[in-house]
Order: sequence, then structure tokens, then C-alpha cells
Amino acid sequence: MAKKSEIKITDHAGNTVFVNMTDIKTHRLNQWQGWFCGLGMENFNILNSGRMHGGVCKTGRELGNVYTSFKMNTEPTKCDKPSCHCGSDILIPKAKTEKEFAKLMKHQINSRKVKYENVIAVDGHFQMRKDNTIAIDWNVGKRCNYNCSYCPDNVHDKKSPHISLSKFLTALNNIEKNIPRDKNLKVTFTGGEPTFNPDFFPFVSLLKNKYKERITIFTNTNGSHTKEYLDALNKYSTLLISVHFEFTNVKRLIEKIRYLVKVRQQEQRYDRKTLLYVKIMVTPTTLQNAKELFFELTHFRTHVFDLRVNLEPIVDKEDDYKLISYSDDQKNIIRKINEHDRLLRTHFETIFKKSSTKKLFRSKEFIERTFANVDV
Ligand code: SF4
Ligand code: SF4
Repeated sequence: MAKKSEIKITDHAGNTVFVNMTDIKTHRLNQWQGWFCGLGMENFNILNSGRMHGGVCKTGRELGNVYTSFKMNTEPTKCDKPSCHCGSDILIPKAKTEKEFAKLMKHQINSRKVKYENVIAVDGHFQMRKDNTIAIDWNVGKRCNYNCSYCPDNVHDKKSPHISLSKFLTALNNIEKNIPRDKNLKVTFTGGEPTFNPDFFPFVSLLKNKYKERITIFTNTNGSHTKEYLDALNKYSTLLISVHFEFTNVKRLIEKIRYLVKVRQQEQRYDRKTLLYVKIMVTPTTLQNAKELFFELTHFRTHVFDLRVNLEPIVDKEDDYKLISYSDDQKNIIRKINEHDRLLRTHFETIFKKSSTKKLFRSKEFIERTFANVDV
């Protein structure tokens, strides 16, 4: 999930500035055909078959297969795509020339004003590189209990076999052989629905117990597993619970989130590595339902670490991850709600950092008042 001002952009004079994903997309900066891209150098993607690429775009050479062998890229690859759509691909460092790409790796910041038309390098792995981290996007299989209309057949089905624990361990063994021992790991699990694999939880707990502070785990889930399971998983992994109105029982989901938030509050979980997100998938026809759910869920929050909620527009995975068709008004509403929530969280976090007691609470009324200004 792209954070505020996460992406460093550089102009030809060496001036740098940090922008966010929305800036990149709305200013149409995401067109880097002919640029040198670092995909597969600090990150890799594992498909449900085990095949590996440096990015969702699959540009350049295939890295190998996680169950047999693979090799990460050591050099940048020339981009041959007219535009770069997927969020994780946009974060990958890239530059107009090889020389500029080499400079990117040196963490230079030289804050000045940068005109978008003069940008020659973009780097969303800046912080990750400073933290000595490798990012892995890992699709653990197609099997899913839902059948969302916007989800292509090559992403989900109801019959694919689950990956066994021994296969997970073979993959881990190969990963460990290919990355330096001192690296930290940021692993994002997707599917299908990972949580219905009976060996998924044992593997995640094994990973966390093995790597401890050196690993950050994210799990994308549709939230249909039991509240007890999700809570146990949330102790090891940040949960990114996606709401799909075609299949989600919204009433039951609300009760589940209420439970998860309550346990987090009781246990005062303030760990940035195990956060709780709800991503409300919003189509042009479900915007009103999404808005209502957004407000209902955010009322559970009394603390910045309790819960984060955002509206997630749908992209067409079979058409280069392009946004499906929303009107400009609808895009504005989505942007406005997300921006409002981000500002509120930033406000909470700033105060939280200064708080010695770690007790930062806001009443339901305060949150209602703050959101009352959102004109949707
Ligand atoms: S599409 Fe994006 S991630 Fe893929 S090579 Fe081009 S710039 Fe890199
Ligand atoms: S829950 Fe996710 S993986 Fe399953 S069908 Fe829906 S979008 Fe696809």
C-alpha cells in the first residue's frame, strides 16, 4: 500500500522531491518506455505456478521458478511497455539512462522543486533499500471460495490444489539460497484466498518465528475465515481484508471487524508490522454501499493502530491493470474519502509520536465531526 510521499523523483539537475502514488498517476508520469528499470533487482513476484518475474508487467527475462531455481536480476532492464499500471511496479526504481539509474542506488536527496516534465528518475524503493530489504509478492495459489465478476479465471478458481507445507519450505529454501543472509524481507501474500490453505498459517508462523524482526508479512484476504483465525494471523501478519459486495456478507463482516478491533484495543497492539486494513472494493455501482461501510467501520477506531480503511477502485487485470470506467465525479469521491482518512491518520500518528503514554484516543463524535466535511 503506497504511503504518503513514498516515491522519490529526480530531475536532470539532480533535484529531488518525494511524491505519492496518486501524484504519479494523476500527472501521468507512469510512462517509462525505453527507461532502465530495476525490476527483479530488489524485489520479485512469485506466480501461483511458482514462476517468477521482476514485476507484474513481466518485462524482461523470467527469473526462474521458486520450487526449482531462480536468479534475481543484477542489471536494470529496458522497459518496453507504453505505461506502468500496477502500484508495486510503479514503486520499482527506474531512470532515463543507465548512468542515472546507477545514481539512484546512492540514496541522494537534494530537496528542491522538481517540474514533472523534467523528471528523469523515479524510485519507490528508497526507504526499503535503506532498510536493506527485499520485497517478495507471493501468489500462493488460485483456490478461492468467492467468484468475483471482476476477477479473471487465471487468478482464481474453486478447485486448484493448495500448496503443501513441504512445497512452501522448498520455496523458502530456494529464496534463502538466492538472497544475501543479511537482508530483511517484506513478503506480501496473495491468491486466490490464501487463508483457506490449511498449511498457510503454519507457514506464516514458521516464517515469523524464524525471521522475527527481520520480516514484515502482509496477507491479502477476503476476510471470510473465522474471526479467531484472522485474529491469530494478525499477530504475525498485517491483514489486508478486501470487501467484495457480490459475495461478502456485510453484516457478518462488520461484526468480525468489530471483534478484531476490540481485541487489538484490549491488547494495545501498537506494532507497525501487524496492522489491520480493510480495503473496500468499489465498482461504479457500489460506491454508495462502499461509502456507508467506510463510515461504519471507521467508527470502531479509537486509535491510529486499530484499523485503517480505504476505498479501492477496481483495475482490469486482463487489460494491463487499467482502472475500470468510473466517472470523474466518482474518482473524485474515492480520492476525497481516502485522502481524508489518510490526513486523519497522519494527524493521529504525529500526535502518537509525541505521546509518552501511548494513549491516544479520539471519540466517536470527534471522528464523525471530522468526516462530516467530506462531501459525498
Ligand atoms: S512497466 Fe513498469 S515495472 Fe515494468 S519494466 Fe516498465 S517501468 Fe518497469
Ligand atoms: S476474493 Fe479475491 S481472489 Fe477471490 S474471486 Fe474475489 S477478487 Fe478473486
